[in-house]
Amino acid sequence: MDIAGLQKNTLLDYPGKIACTVFLAGCNLRCPFCHNPALVLPNRIAPPAMTQGELLSFLGKRRGLLEGVCVTGGEPTLYRDLPRLLEAVTALGYPVKLDTNGSNPQMLRELLSGGLLSYVAMDIKNAPESYRETCGGADVLEKVRESVEILRNAGIDYEFRTTVVKPLHTAEGMKAIGQWLSGAKAYFIQNFRDTGDLVGQGLSSFSEEELKQLLSAVQPYLPNARISPSMQNEKQEIHTVFRCFPFFCLTKNLSLPALADFIRASRKRSEENVSGDQAGRQDRGF
Ligand code: SF4
Repeated sequence: MDIAGLQKNTLLDYPGKIACTVFLAGCNLRCPFCHNPALVLPNRIAPPAMTQGELLSFLGKRRGLLEGVCVTGGEPTLYRDLPRLLEAVTALGYPVKLDTNGSNPQMLRELLSGGLLSYVAMDIKNAPESYRETCGGADVLEKVRESVEILRNAGIDYEFRTTVVKPLHTAEGMKAIGQWLSGAKAYFIQNFRDTGDLVGQGLSSFSEEELKQLLSAVQPYLPNARISPSMQNEKQEIHTVFRCFPFFCLTKNLSLPALADFIRASRKRSEENVSGDQAGRQDRGF
């Protein structure tokens, strides 16, 4: 298993928890808007940043400080030994949140039946008719449909989410997503962000007004759909964290300005963790 990086603290990745995020390299899709080519393109993937033993040792030391572990990618479900890693993580007492593109329903079922997941965030790349184009040509729609139904019936917390980007997403397409996912527990739209290092080219983000129009297209079917909090303006985000984690802010003696610095530093570390060139990766982790 290629553990490509570890973000030691995050207040934003695991809803309601102070968590760490583990990045696993490798992905079966090639979404043109993907801003993690260093975790996706084989010629960009560097040797592992740490072993499973080192990761588990870190988690052992952080018991009582961290409240959960996010496992993200790339696409974590590509690893046959993922259940074994998550068994070891849950044995340490951590609930696990999985980020997935939904293309491996068999692994999703295995992890859920083993009681190894407490939260799943799953990508919905686009409306069915545009799915293949939006994931770079991969034919995964039927697998994703299967994963959607598994999550609907899993009895755990989950969210679906769509990264929207011009010219791939339209109001008509968003309406079709809404009809598909109707009744889902949670659905988020997040705006594309051009980091300058993407898997594809020729893409741009939506304006705030356009984003609201896309949201309006899904809300008749998904009334609880929201624009992702991580894409709201920074001021809102900081107030959200301050409200959701008063005990954390109190114990760390974080005023609002200090919290703003903490969040910016955390985000910067996260971006560095997943932008990784070889040298950068050697700095990650411990
Ligand atoms: S956006 Fe996610 S699913 Fe798509 S290529 Fe990147 S890591 Fe893979």
